Amino acid sequence: NQGDYMHALEYYQKSLGIKKELGDKKGIANSLNNIGIIYKNQGDYLQALEYYHKSLKIREELGDKKGIANSLNNIGIVYKNQGDYPQVLEYYYKSLKILEKLGGKKEIANILNNIGIVYENQGDYMHALEYYQKSLEINEELGNKRGIAIILNNIGVVYENQGDYMHALEYFHKSLEIREELGDKKGIASSFENIGEFYHKQGNYLQALEYYHKSLEINEELNDKLGIASSYIDIGRLYTKLGEIQEALKYLTKGLNLVKELGASTLEKDAYEDLSEAYKKMRKYKRALEYYRLFKETNDKVFNAEKSKQITEMQTKYETEKKEKEAEIYRLKNVELVRANEEIKRTHEKLTEAYKQLEILARTDPLTKLSNRRHILEKVQEEIYRSERSSKPFAIVISDIDHFRRFNNKYGHDCGDSILVAIANLMKSSLRKQDSVGRWGGEEFILVLPETDLSGGLIATEKLRNAIEKYSHNYNDKKLSITMSFGVSVFDESIGIEQCIKNADKALYKAKRSGRNLVMPTTMGFNRIKDKDYHEKKRK
Ligand code: GH3
Ligand code: MG
Ligand code: MG
Repeated sequence: NQGDYMHALEYYQKSLGIKKELGDKKGIANSLNNIGIIYKNQGDYLQALEYYHKSLKIREELGDKKGIANSLNNIGIVYKNQGDYPQVLEYYYKSLKILEKLGGKKEIANILNNIGIVYENQGDYMHALEYYQKSLEINEELGNKRGIAIILNNIGVVYENQGDYMHALEYFHKSLEIREELGDKKGIASSFENIGEFYHKQGNYLQALEYYHKSLEINEELNDKLGIASSYIDIGRLYTKLGEIQEALKYLTKGLNLVKELGASTLEKDAYEDLSEAYKKMRKYKRALEYYRLFKETNDKVFNAEKSKQITEMQTKYETEKKEKEAEIYRLKNVELVRANEEIKRTHEKLTEAYKQLEILARTDPLTKLSNRRHILEKVQEEIYRSERSSKPFAIVISDIDHFRRFNNKYGHDCGDSILVAIANLMKSSLRKQDSVGRWGGEEFILVLPETDLSGGLIATEKLRNAIEKYSHNYNDKKLSITMSFGVSVFDESIGIEQCIKNADKALYKAKRSGRNLVMPTTMGFNRIKDKDYHEKKRK
């Protein structure tokens, strides 16, 4: 506050070191922010921004909303000093948004005031007054007299810029009154300086000088070095105007030395400019030019294009970093999702495969790989539906290996098994594609022949019987002949599938009794429903 930035910086750096040791993140963010403020006061905006952004980053990590709002405000102030008003407003509005959610009235009033200053700097006095007014209302509600005094002063500046000097002076004095009431010396010094400035611009140099001296007196009392330096330069400038160049040089040189010591670049450039002006008045053009060069150099240091570019670049960098971070988070989330999805897909595939296997197992006879009884009954059911739709009959054949027990007895169970597998394959290969074969039980097989009437069923079965009879089974170098008996029936919805199968079974029994190796039609079904009758009935 005394403007001794060198020492302030030194202490803040020490504090930062300790907070880092303690791992006190909130403290680190505060120290970084304070260091940023010092750099800003010194006019080193690039460093200020660097520190403000570092602080902001930590505050964002901590979710410290109030801190974030404060950082945004501070960054905004730097941009304001750079004259980058759109950027400033963006930061101020971001900060304002957060503060409005948090409900920090004092901070809101402060940011409304800052926004007002931006509009004022842009010459948009209407908006400036609007924001000052809002800020004033909140400050009045809070009874924050210090804040009220600041706003009244700012409103005075607007009037001054609008050429309404009466009102301007009125507001400056109102502000001063409150500050005097509060005993706010720093504020009083500031008011005196503003009033001095006002008279200076009006060309009332003596009045101006009086107020500048008043301001200097208080600044000296407070040992506010920056304030003192500012007063020196103000007074020096005024003496130049009054033509008292020696006095001017005395004050300006004192001011310059102090400002250099403090590292306050903004005031340093002012001092150079004023010194140049003073020497010009003395017609010492060489010195004037020298100081003008120094002015340009210092001015460039603070405001030059390169610096602005760097600041813009830094801004872009932080924005890009943030966007990259967001993109990275998004990408990681996506990768995780994809991974999870792949895992689910794999598990799903495995499960599907397992279910498939289970289903195959559930419907397959393990020895012959034919459909088991359950599965073949499902197929029969499908056939019933199809037959109902197409009005076409289908045939059911139940078959049984003749004297199968003998193979088991003579050559062992394995031989019986090998015969079962061979017969299964023979049946599959000699039937049509749409026909189904299943293992009905033991050495019994069932055939389902779609779109087949009794005579067709008899022909197909007879072919099969013949093929089996001709087949010679090899078991342990022995050639075995196999025969089978068959009972054929045709499905009729009037008797139902159970009865149909029973009929086939009865026919098979008849084949066995009639000497085996035979195909028998169901006597009942065959006698009762002739093929022709069947079709006619369906047609009705
Ligand atoms: P028939 O001509 O009257 O049918 O005489 P059969 O010997 O075939 O008579 P039966 O139906 O009484 O005998 C069937 C035998 O088939 C009884 C059983 O031990 C045997 N068998 C049933 N399932 C299997 C099997 O999976 N493997 C083997 N090797 N034998 C089986
Ligand atoms: Mg049997
Ligand atoms: Mg048998």
